[in-house]
Amino acid sequence: MKYFSTNHQSPEVDFKQATINGQAPDKGLYFPERIPTISKELIENITQYSNEEIAYQVMKPYVGDTIPELELRRIVEETINFDIPLVKVTDAIYSLELYHGPTLAFKDIGARFMSRCLGYFVKQSDLNLGKKKKVTVLVATSGDTGGAVANGFYEVEGVEVVILYPSGKVSSVQEKQLTTLGKNIHALEIAGTFDDCQQMVKQAFIDEDLKQKLFLTSANSINVARWLPQQLYYFFAYKLWADKHKPPVISVPSGNFGNICAGILAHQSGLPVQHFIAACNANDVVPNYMQSQQYVPKNAVATISNAMDVGNPSNFIRILEIFHHQFTDLAAIFSSCSISEDHTKSTLQTIYKNYHYLLDPHGAVGFKALDQYLQSHPDQKGIVLETAHPVKFYDAVEPLIGELVPIPVSIQHQLTLQKNSIKMEAQSEMLNSFLLKLSGS
Ligand SMILES: *Cc1c(COP(=O)(O)O)cnc(C)c1O
Repeated sequence: MKYFSTNHQSPEVDFKQATINGQAPDKGLYFPERIPTISKELIENITQYSNEEIAYQVMKPYVGDTIPELELRRIVEETINFDIPLVKVTDAIYSLELYHGPTLAFKDIGARFMSRCLGYFVKQSDLNLGKKKKVTVLVATSGDTGGAVANGFYEVEGVEVVILYPSGKVSSVQEKQLTTLGKNIHALEIAGTFDDCQQMVKQAFIDEDLKQKLFLTSANSINVARWLPQQLYYFFAYKLWADKHKPPVISVPSGNFGNICAGILAHQSGLPVQHFIAACNANDVVPNYMQSQQYVPKNAVATISNAMDVGNPSNFIRILEIFHHQFTDLAAIFSSCSISEDHTKSTLQTIYKNYHYLLDPHGAVGFKALDQYLQSHPDQKGIVLETAHPVKFYDAVEPLIGELVPIPVSIQHQLTLQKNSIKMEAQSEMLNSFLLKLSGS
């Protein structure tokens, strides 16, 4: 499988090179040259397949011959080795809980797959590192990405991970997930905003001195090795879906649109889905586009579903690419709506009160969007993707329900560990000298 850049100014590359590069040199996003077809046999008999086998079958064509079969089987097994249950909430709405991974958010799946692929590529002798002994993954986070990346890359040999986060602006659960691992994970606590962190990272990537001395790469959500494995849980959801003759409507809380784009890709390769809803908060660039066919990026506004506070979603271009930029084909399967902060809060409260099901703010946006859609399509049923555990956003959730959110056993120990971060001013020179020191230059 070859990947081309959506800007069409960079050479085509294989999966390995696309993973290492992250973004194409022309600043476009990598996209597969063709969308593989999943065998009908697998779809028709999906309940007889293990998740591991489904995962291998789905990923194999995308990875091509860059990773041998046994290695790829090991990687997908490790990627999905936690529960992904489909929980009935109302008669018409089910919740696919994607938050049982190590950092309690769906980003664990993409981060685990990418870290293991990169770890494999680094071990291969033909990766021309020269005198640079290690790969350094550099990433800025507003909260969820950093934890998933840190956890995914923890103890991966040959890889150092440097995470920049804005001091005082991530939740305490998120901060512990970033700062307590140690070993090859380095957390830089920046006296500034998320935008400052991102600016420092961007600056480091174009620094000539660093380029000479370090092998730097990024682990952000546009990387194909993070994007593509997100297809897997759409297949697992269909496997658990009772009425195979009436496929589900799927509602996806969306920010950068990588998650829903992976779902649409799965559908294009043969997975039965009735309809996709991109559920947005007040950041409504895509809902507006679906109304007007005008794509107008905006500055992001802050909401309680903050992982979706994105004003110019990077992956939307990939959705257009899937449909060859034909609006009517896109609109036949996809719609998008914006849910207000008030509706997000009242949905979270009502669903907890009436159905004893606790959504997180992102899941509440998805739930409300699905509920609205089903009002006008009463013969259908659907699935909302629950993208994070409510405890990650307890400061927003607890006042709404007037109760404490119990902390899952799996993270209780981590919360008792001592935070270990390196405090740093928001200055590029300081980041650069840290990176040089880390690499032993
Ligand atoms: C990242 C994130 C999203 C948005 O996912 P995209 O793939 O960027 O659309 C939604 N919910 C949670 C909890 C997230 O962490």
